[in-house]
This record gives sequence, C-alpha cells and structure tokens, in this order.
Amino acid sequence: MSEIEQHLHGKVAVVTGASRGIGRAIALRLAARGAAVACVATSADRARDTAQACAQAGVRASAYGVDVGTTDAVAELVSQVQAELGGLDLLVNNAGITRDQLLLRMSEADFDAVVNTNLKGAWNFIRAASRPLMKSRGRIINIASVVGLTGNAGQANYAASKAGLIGLTRSVAKELASRQVCCNAVAPGYIDTDMTAAIDPKAREALLGAIPLGRTGLAEEVALAVDFLAGPGGAYITGQVLVVDGGLSL
Ligand code: NAP
Repeated sequence: MSEIEQHLHGKVAVVTGASRGIGRAIALRLAARGAAVACVATSADRARDTAQACAQAGVRASAYGVDVGTTDAVAELVSQVQAELGGLDLLVNNAGITRDQLLLRMSEADFDAVVNTNLKGAWNFIRAASRPLMKSRGRIINIASVVGLTGNAGQANYAASKAGLIGLTRSVAKELASRQVCCNAVAPGYIDTDMTAAIDPKAREALLGAIPLGRTGLAEEVALAVDFLAGPGGAYITGQVLVVDGGLSL
C-alpha cells in the first residue's frame, strides 16, 4: 500500500509550536494520517507555511497565533478551533523554549519565561480543551524532554518545566481516565532543530559520544512516536513517558 493508513481521518488535532522543528513534523504526520490540523505558533503568520503543507495532504488545516502562556487567549483559541474545524480529538502540547544558564547566573525572568511557556502553556491548553476531549474521548500528548527525567547542568529552568510537564501528564491521565481520555508524554533526547542548532561544535561532539545509537534524532522520529500514541496503538496507554532519545538517558 503506497498511501499511509489514515487512522485519524475525521479527527481534529491541535499542535502547538507547529511553525518549525518537531511541531511542524508532528502536524505534517497527523495530516498524512487524515486529521484536520490547527497549527499554532506565536503568530498565525509563523504557522501559515505548516498549515499550507498540511493542506496538501488533503485535510483541512488552519494557522493560529497565541502565546501559549496566556490563559484567556488560549481558551478563546480552543473555542475558535472547535468552531472552525468542527470539534477536538487530539491535543499535542509541543511549544517550548530554552533559556540556558548556570543556576547562579540564571535570572528570574529566564526561569519564569521557560516555566510559563513549557509548563503553564500546556496546562492552559489542557484545561481549555479537556471538556471537548472528554466528549470526543480524545488524546493528549505532551512533548517533554529526557532532561525532565535526568536533570541537566545549565538547564535548571528547562528541566524543572519538563519534569513538571511529566507530573502534569500523569495527574491529567488519572483525572481524565474515567472519561476515556488518554494523556501521555513523549520525551525526546537530542533532536536536530533550531533549538539545538546553537550548541557549539565541541559540546555537540561530546553529546554525540553519549548517545548509544551514535547520532542525533530527527523531528520526524519524534512525530512517529506521537503518531503511535495518537493512533490505535495508544488506546490502552495512559500516564506514560515514551522516551525517544537513541538511548541517551540509559
Ligand atoms: P523549536 O524549533 O525552537 O520550535 C519551537 C516552537 O515552539 C516554535 O513553533 C515556536 O513558535 C513555538 N513557541 C515557542 N514559544 C511559544 C509561545 N510562547 N507560544 C506559542 N508558541 C511558542 O523547538 P523544537 O526543537 O522543535 O522543540 C519542540 C518541543 O520539543 C519543545 O517543547 C522542546 O522543549 C521539546 N524538545 C526538543 C528537543 C530537541 O533536541 N530539539 C529535545 C527534547 C525536547 P514561533 O516559531 O512562533 O517562535
């Protein structure tokens, strides 16, 4: 069979941080599976190219702009998506930022910005989307990070936000299980995107040496893990963290 199976045909997905990197790969993969996709970035303009690429798979796709950390604006956006795309079946909280610095040099602003986007942003979307997801018996997938499990020097803010996201994932899984909503996290290792492009060559070499599979990961490889959890394979999985890191955290 040349065309991939469209197990998300007729479903509506929201993907945050869809303008580039992992979020773009997730949006494209879900569209290839037949889902209508709401592509969210800091501005609709930034998400437009991904939405257009999704539409080429023959699905409805729209671009939306919001700062995921702003509670009221996120609630409005979730209502708008439901009205425009006709429901909500899958929420992928992928938007994220880093502001790396050693603890003693880290500013309060850098701590707050990372937690507000990576953790509160996901909470904002989950809270706004939980009623429609209960109705559709939908799925929630949060993009965490292996450093949320292992910690990382220079990333106290980021690791704390991702560890928090894992705690949020497990709590939401327990709260919404009776409504048949599954909530899981995917924890990527070192994936080639804009986020990791700034790492200096020496640090990159050391990192590569620490990855048992001997290479960095591709955004598409994270998208395939999301695809699995969003599809039939994820029906009886909830509250779990699927690590996609080439063995980095072993
Ligand atoms: P990226 O290339 O830097 O893209 C980040 C995305 O998040 C962009 O679409 C950006 O939108 C969006 N975003 C950032 N702040 C936002 C905000 N306040 N409101 C709305 N959208 C916002 O990052 P990536 O590498 O693809 O990472 C995606 C996710 O995977 C993140 O949660 C990251 O922590 C996680 N992760 C990445 C790696 C890795 O190695 N790359 C490893 C582990 C986990 P704009 O284009 O509008 O700025």
